Amino acid sequence: MTIVTAAVLHARGAPYVLEQVDLVEPGAGQIRIRIHACGICFTDVGVQNYEQGLPLPQVLGHEGAGVVEAVGPGVTGVAPGDHVVLSYASCGQCVRCAEHAPQYCRQFLALNYAGALPDGRVPMHGADGPIAAAFFGQSSFATHVIAYERNTVKVPADLPLAMLAPFGCGLQTGAGTVYNSLAPAAGQSLGVFGTGSVGLAALMAAADIGCTPLIAVDRNPARLDLARELGATHTILADGRDVTAAIRAILPDGIDHIVDTTGVGPVIRAGVEALASRGQLAMLAVTPPGTEITIDPNMLLGGKALRGAVEGDADPQAFIPWLIARHCAGRFPHERLVTTYPFSAINEAVADMKAGKVIKPVLLMS
Ligand SMILES: [Zn+2]
Ligand SMILES: [Zn+2]
Repeated sequence: MTIVTAAVLHARGAPYVLEQVDLVEPGAGQIRIRIHACGICFTDVGVQNYEQGLPLPQVLGHEGAGVVEAVGPGVTGVAPGDHVVLSYASCGQCVRCAEHAPQYCRQFLALNYAGALPDGRVPMHGADGPIAAAFFGQSSFATHVIAYERNTVKVPADLPLAMLAPFGCGLQTGAGTVYNSLAPAAGQSLGVFGTGSVGLAALMAAADIGCTPLIAVDRNPARLDLARELGATHTILADGRDVTAAIRAILPDGIDHIVDTTGVGPVIRAGVEALASRGQLAMLAVTPPGTEITIDPNMLLGGKALRGAVEGDADPQAFIPWLIARHCAGRFPHERLVTTYPFSAINEAVADMKAGKVIKPVLLMS
């Protein structure tokens, strides 16, 4: 056991409490990582606040970045001292993993949400007993975690870990939905609905590809100003106006691609109505249970597609180093989205994120 500091969630909707807990030693195929930084994602906020059948007490956090401290038997891909970014876990053995689509792993829920390691051990223990961890194969709201070879991605040691942490989920999700799921050609039109960190990552990817017009839609005028700085050619303030009509005023034949990050039924419907023939809308938000979308099925004729995407259809081992290289080449300037906080200010960081004051808070553990 190693004594570590973790931000423990004891009840839904409660603030995190920083506590000393015991972390188990890495077993076969497992890795102990000293976490230097961890981004906060809206999935953390959702699990913190809404009952989804997950065990409590629990440690969340799934955008960890740090340095490998120890490896268990059989680990060959990383060694102590390696700088790494942590992403979601996958089994490596199912049909989806064999198709190089680990984001649709048949074991995805068990490996990312169950709170225990695949060998059955609960990774963390506090004064009152076991603490569910292994969230997204990490639980990185902590100074040290246990992860696996498949979700531990080696990164260059000369880059700041605080800037690399959000590649593990939010940036991968937004950028991957454009580069991998929609794969637009240069010169095709693309819209982004919702310009939080995931939406702005999608927008930067579309700008990198050369999509035009590139249209950002949001309720927050300040976010639309930033979207313009990051490459949007047009912005639409979602202040109750008809977004479909606003898009068709720019593109009378409709828009080729839309990334929806809102998960709001009427917004998705407005997007489908704005698609050009052969246009496609990818939705990536987790919506509350019971949400329904009504569309006229005729709207999908003309070769249009409405589809979902998880983690940007990205295999983290290939995509994260590729996207980091894009960043280093100046083609993915995500540092504009990041605000850092000391680990002890985790509750303030979450509050600022929910209030829209910051786009991508990143906690610093060291
Ligand atoms: Zn699998
Ligand atoms: Zn996430």
